[in-house]
Amino acid sequence: MSGGKIRNVVIIGSGPAAWSAAIYAARAALEPLVFEGAVTEQNRLSGTLPLGQLALTTEVENYAGFPAGNLQQFLDDALSPERRPMPRKHDPKHKEAVTGPELMELMRQQALNFGAEIRTHDVLKIDLQTSPRVLSVGSSDDGVVDTIHAKAIVIATGARANYLGMPSEDHYKNRGVSACAVCDGALPRFRNKPLVVVGGGDSAVEEATYLTKFASRVYMIHRRDSLRASKAMAHRAHHDPKIEFVWNSVVDEVLGTHKDGVTGVRVCGVSDASAKRELPAAGMFLAIGHTPNTTFLNGQLELNDKGYIKYTVPFRTNTSVPGVFAAGDVADDYYRQAITSAGTGCMAALDAERWLASHE
Ligand code: NAP
Repeated sequence: MSGGKIRNVVIIGSGPAAWSAAIYAARAALEPLVFEGAVTEQNRLSGTLPLGQLALTTEVENYAGFPAGNLQQFLDDALSPERRPMPRKHDPKHKEAVTGPELMELMRQQALNFGAEIRTHDVLKIDLQTSPRVLSVGSSDDGVVDTIHAKAIVIATGARANYLGMPSEDHYKNRGVSACAVCDGALPRFRNKPLVVVGGGDSAVEEATYLTKFASRVYMIHRRDSLRASKAMAHRAHHDPKIEFVWNSVVDEVLGTHKDGVTGVRVCGVSDASAKRELPAAGMFLAIGHTPNTTFLNGQLELNDKGYIKYTVPFRTNTSVPGVFAAGDVADDYYRQAITSAGTGCMAALDAERWLASHE
């Protein structure tokens, strides 16, 4: 047992749900311990690095309380220099929205300010049959490095980007295949080259629009003939001269060479698989939805039919195991917004606090 101490609340995750839960739990004097995830190549490849999905986005224009403005002074003041994601240029004439990485760093700092303890480990295994609960923490590189005992747990591990699952896609991961335009889009291999984005939702439009900064052309391959994305986002894509739609099509094969990585994508028609076409592309970016990060639970919590953690009490964050609460995208396949995640993180901390009070 780590230091022999039984923790009141352990929070697993490091997105808006986790940090909001940590802020509330810390202010309730529960001395929360947050496992924000390990910095490993495996987590990088699967999109599960600390600070979650928002760390992989650009501007966040819809998080209430952060209108566009000149945030530089506030960020300099609130965050230590080594935790500033990217310095801003001071330009009083140009207002900018807060970015995802900045928003996450601010939330993390806020949790620290109230006394939350943060460890940069993954929870590799969890035992929910025992009381207190037992968590084995560490990383894919180092294995289990510590064992933690906790009375209440908030699971806020979020979700990760999906891939198509074809061997050629796997073969070219890191060599032209990516699920994060913001992380990889500026790489020299993509500059002034045609690129492909797969998907038709808000993420796909966001990725495609971002990639137009670097690419000569962006093909959006979508399996239907209209976008799922919101009206505003769809309007943006339809009016972008660099974006070309490839409707009613799916990826048949990622093409490439050992030397250059991805060189193109072969697509085929949804209703006619023999209608094949090759698109030249130096990269393929996936934006086809997400999978909740629940593997470490090893089937100990009830999930819904899409694999997300199931809430067992209406309007509460309770899961199927007493004292275990869920927040954010790991339990939400419907709203999936930063602000709703933060809201459920707050709820989970309050639910945990009340549960602890009623059990002590
Ligand atoms: P999404 O809305 O579920 O869209 C996924 C897209 O991928 C859909 O167009 C889907 O096609 C396609 N797709 C799924 N599986 C596929 C497969 N195997 N092969 C080919 N295409 C496939 O996911 P999302 O775009 O990540 O958005 C998720 C949530 O986050 C939404 O609520 C969205 O509003 C929100 N979001 C908001 C913003 C923003 O406000 N700035 C940005 C990003 C995301 P079909 O349409 O045919 O199902």
